[in-house]
Amino acid sequence: MTLIVLIALGAAAVQLARLYLFPFRHCRRCGATGRKHSRLNRRTHALCPRCAGTGRTLRPGARLVHRAALGARSPQARSPQARARLQVRETEAAERTQTPGRPARQFPPTQRSNP
Ligand SMILES: [Zn+2]
Repeated sequence: MTLIVLIALGAAAVQLARLYLFPFRHCRRCGATGRKHSRLNRRTHALCPRCAGTGRTLRPGARLVHRAALGARSPQARSPQARARLQVRETEAAERTQTPGRPARQFPPTQRSNP
């Protein structure tokens, strides 16, 4: 029983490492060509709507693994939006400390553009 659990944990660890190291796979809809041929005329084609012409798509769970890894590394490295929010907070705090006479701006939560 213990051996089965250990094997399962090892397989899960290998799968997580695989998702982290190789997050992309070939797009199955276009066969990794990035093109979608017309049914009527094989000469015409458009970019594959699934992979947007890149020929590769994310494996299921790869985004989750990468976000978890980024979150474990540092809060600043999470996403551009999170970094921008952090920067806005820091500049607002700096403004508050620089102008002590002026009351600090406080937005109600519903009026904030980027919560
Ligand atoms: Zn494709």
